Amino acid sequence: MKIENPYAGVKKGTWLRGNLHAHTTASDGQQPIQKVIDDYAVLGHDFLMISDHDIVTGAKDYAKLDARGLVLIPGNEISRWGPHLLHVNATHMVEPDGDRQKVVDTINAGPGFAVFNHPNWLADFNHCSMENLALWHGYVGIEIFNGVIGRLDGSPFATDKWDKLLSAGRRIWGFANDDSHAAKIDLGLGWNVVATANRSVRGILTAMRRGSFYASTGVTITDIAVQGSRIRVQTKDADRIVAVREVGKEFAWADAKTLTVEVPVGAKYVRFECRGRGGRTAWTQPFFVSGA
Ligand SMILES: [Zn+2]
Ligand SMILES: [Zn+2]
Repeated sequence: MKIENPYAGVKKGTWLRGNLHAHTTASDGQQPIQKVIDDYAVLGHDFLMISDHDIVTGAKDYAKLDARGLVLIPGNEISRWGPHLLHVNATHMVEPDGDRQKVVDTINAGPGFAVFNHPNWLADFNHCSMENLALWHGYVGIEIFNGVIGRLDGSPFATDKWDKLLSAGRRIWGFANDDSHAAKIDLGLGWNVVATANRSVRGILTAMRRGSFYASTGVTITDIAVQGSRIRVQTKDADRIVAVREVGKEFAWADAKTLTVEVPVGAKYVRFECRGRGGRTAWTQPFFVSGA
């Protein structure tokens, strides 16, 4: 049995926390960009991507501002003509096109990557359909949690679509973002914790591309280790840790801060949900399994 560990080689004390989805008054956010940066710095985040609708905020824009110690990632949210997606590390505007595969391909021709947003937004819980997510290729991930949807129609969560994609053999990472529009109430709802010793745009995004991060709404993971056919997940503050395999099957759990599982023979992937107080959760990325 071969277990691909996205956290292999991670050293303790090298986790950086941040949000890739925040709006400003440049689009429909309620706060000017410097105020948004200030607020995320106060929150204690390490990195932030401003993602206004169809407007790139790039390195030149950031250079005019006070980063307040944050690593600021160029980007935008491609919004017109179809399901929304983040262009992470956007060096230029990729024009929205109804053909989202074309948009993803154009993004992939540059240094950035694509993440589909809030798939279960709107009253039909289907802003981005399963059919489309299955059809399109080349995107790095989807938002499995989007903060602002918590106060809008639909569901902020999308682990259902994630498990379907993973079960179909797709390699898709799960992201948690605020999608902040309003001050205060939209901040610090969801974030990504990246394992990298390199505190830079490049360091953070390289680690994200290989899945070396977890998504969180408040639970902290302290260690993840693979030994033989066992995976151990250690947290600071989970009440229950659940191990999930295809197709969303919860095959092991513990009401504890730590869970060690034997990866079942025949599993295609295993991922972990670490559930804490008040519904707070941390989601590991999937460990892909091959061989008997
Ligand atoms: Zn959106
Ligand atoms: Zn947004």
